[in-house]
Amino acid sequence: MPLEAPLPPIRERVAELNRRYRHHSAAAVLEHALNDPLVGPVALVSSFGAESVVLLHLVSTIDRSLPVIFLDTEMLFPETLAYQRAVSERLGLGDVRVIRPDREALFARDPDALLYRSDPDACCALRKSEPLARALEGFDAWITGRKRFQGKARAALELFEDEGGRRIKINPLAHWSPRDVQDYIVNNRLPRHPLVGRGYPSIGCRVCTTPAGESEPPRAGRWRGSDKEECGIHFLGGRAVPGPAPKTVIVTDTGFASDDWTGPWLTPEALERAGRGAALDIGPETDLGQLAGHLEALAMIRVNFPAFSDGRGFTIARQLRRMGYRGRLRAGGHLIADQYAMARRSGFDEVEIAADLAERQPQEHWLARADWQQGDYQSRLREGF
Ligand code: SF4
Repeated sequence: MPLEAPLPPIRERVAELNRRYRHHSAAAVLEHALNDPLVGPVALVSSFGAESVVLLHLVSTIDRSLPVIFLDTEMLFPETLAYQRAVSERLGLGDVRVIRPDREALFARDPDALLYRSDPDACCALRKSEPLARALEGFDAWITGRKRFQGKARAALELFEDEGGRRIKINPLAHWSPRDVQDYIVNNRLPRHPLVGRGYPSIGCRVCTTPAGESEPPRAGRWRGSDKEECGIHFLGGRAVPGPAPKTVIVTDTGFASDDWTGPWLTPEALERAGRGAALDIGPETDLGQLAGHLEALAMIRVNFPAFSDGRGFTIARQLRRMGYRGRLRAGGHLIADQYAMARRSGFDEVEIAADLAERQPQEHWLARADWQQGDYQSRLREGF
């Protein structure tokens, strides 16, 4: 029997999956994810929270035997526990696995169930991250219901993510809006979590969740009064996993993406030591003459804009293209959506923005300015003007 070729690294598989399915609907992404050999064994992780029923219903229409992992932190609302049982039965889910924290660890580290007050990160690790890590052993991928609109840490969410080179995370609803979620629930006559009607648009543990006002972001009621935004299940071993909680967001013609460059950034002074495929960080003061002879080896150059009003970066981009640089060119620093078209016309391939700007100027703002093709510099270059 011929030996099967080993799968490529997760990072490469994720890039390929995003390329293949980026324009597919949530249902199609799910269906492909459950069958694509690049993905492997998959589980759905569900909190049975405010919007979970959408993904649970989608999965039930494709494969009711798919393992569904439900984390009972033993701090949940009783309404959530009842809802979990009712929804599982109604949708005919055949393999719901209720996962709880380790008894001995609870006794040793949180005997009074008050750890959430003194150290919520440690509490989430004990009650969520560690049990989930154990439950996911044996799976190559897991499905989440996270969406871009849910906050700045999720603003650049992609359909497929590399979870620290260990596992693939699938976010079929990444691009859904609140309206999409609402319409799906109404159109399919799905049961709502009973707390939604009482002002809880996002529901976690009862001691860490409060209602949120209509003018507040949906997750405003989670860990209210602290700067904590995520429960930790999107982190590994207490360390941030590249991708899910980006500090920066990359804007391209097709929308937001998380930064896929994890290597070091060189300074012009370190160019002599740069090998092929290096990335270079430069600013408006950089003497482009010192880059001559190195451009071919550089996979990416980032040009930093120190202020919105400082347009020297556009000139640098044009000069680099005139010097023959054909690699990836990124504009970083202080740029706003109004400058996207100018950046693309100047020769930049993408713009790197801070996550908080991505929240204030969401993807639609940028895409509305992405009609840069008229008089595009790179097109004219290709045409040999
Ligand atoms: S959400 Fe609160 S109670 Fe629940 S695990 Fe995290 S810190 Fe603990």
